[in-house]
Amino acid sequence: MLFTDIIRKKRDGDELSAEEIAFFVAGLADGSIPKEQVAALAMAVCLNSMTAEEAGRLTMDMAASGTMLEWQGENLDGPVVDKHSTGGVGDKVSFLLAPIAAACGCYVPMISGRGLGHTGGTTDKIEAIPGYNATPDFEIFRKVVKSAGCAIIGQTTDLAPADRRFYAIRDVTATIESVPLITASILSKKIAAGLDALVMDVKFGSGAFMSSPENAEELAKSIIATAAKADLNTHAIITDMNECLGMTAGNAVEIAESMEYLKNNHRESRLDEVVMALCAEMLVATGMESDRDAARSKVDAAVTSGDAAERFGRMVTALGGPTDFVENYTQYLPQAALTQPVFAADSGYVVEEDAFLVGNAIIELGGGRRTMNDDLDLSVGLTDMAPIGTWVDNERPLAVIHASSEDCAEIATTMIRQACRISDEKPAERPVIGRILTAD
Ligand code: URA
Repeated sequence: MLFTDIIRKKRDGDELSAEEIAFFVAGLADGSIPKEQVAALAMAVCLNSMTAEEAGRLTMDMAASGTMLEWQGENLDGPVVDKHSTGGVGDKVSFLLAPIAAACGCYVPMISGRGLGHTGGTTDKIEAIPGYNATPDFEIFRKVVKSAGCAIIGQTTDLAPADRRFYAIRDVTATIESVPLITASILSKKIAAGLDALVMDVKFGSGAFMSSPENAEELAKSIIATAAKADLNTHAIITDMNECLGMTAGNAVEIAESMEYLKNNHRESRLDEVVMALCAEMLVATGMESDRDAARSKVDAAVTSGDAAERFGRMVTALGGPTDFVENYTQYLPQAALTQPVFAADSGYVVEEDAFLVGNAIIELGGGRRTMNDDLDLSVGLTDMAPIGTWVDNERPLAVIHASSEDCAEIATTMIRQACRISDEKPAERPVIGRILTAD
């Protein structure tokens, strides 16, 4: 088979056969198809899309390109389930959802990604915990999932390696933005993780991949339909990412906010809405609860009882972190050299936030990546972010910057001021939770 013929076929808008997709995925995994040809096919798919049949085959072949985890042998007494977010700014939901779901009787093997561009990465954030091993081998991963009910780790080289290479090439060739390719990329990793059910947080808005709720729904429907072919029951919630989620953005600062949430000391309302909705949906998707309100009460009780905090602590200890991390996290997290408030030029209500710009301010501070090889400063970031609708003046700042130098702080200050639009008129409230989509 000649790969140029496959590229030409997709370039001309035709459907690829099962054999052609299998040939492509094998060449991705073993490196025999060079980058330029992979990029050419990715661009042809971006322009001409794929049928549901093609996207399904690409998903399954990429899932099978490496280790396929299975949990049957572990005799777990609850369902194996995970959540995936399409990415945003200040998205710390994983640190809350994984232990909450574990406290509710689920098992959550969460294999997360690193941050790239304006969106942060769960793996980077959790590495702010000293001693935490985010890249354990599969045997340790299994043991921690079984004993703590959840384990948050980074992507390993042997899980869906074909996607790993494909994603890296797409990232530098402007070919990420394709519904079938995003579908196959996300689901190949989740199918390889051996889940019983999956809940998707599909975000739209200034800080998300998808700009509108309609685009987000299109992606959600594609993921749900493709997952169904692989018998992976998937529910999706469309959520608003037109502002930072919660009060912090960065790495260590997001872990700190998560600890305050799990200890039930401070649950920022929009963050809380997203966490409650996704956790409740997990219980519904796994069949543990049939009613969303009942599921929500159970989820809330997992936080207020301290059970979720206890699960998080268990996971941290089992993966090499401090045994008293939840109780004494301030002693362990890295602190930036300087902190300073950013005040708006005029007083008024925050009516709009460019979350993309806020994410880029984190990159300028050194807490985010421009390229996959960049090293991060896990201590820097933003705290006390004023949610949309907050009155800001010379006492209430837009945010507090945590920086390593005056120069970085100055650049971030300009960007935060630019990102936030101020007005005398209080904006109408916007719901953070949109439609919930399921296969039925
Ligand atoms: N996240 C992924 O894992 N893959 C994509 O293609 C886009 C987002």
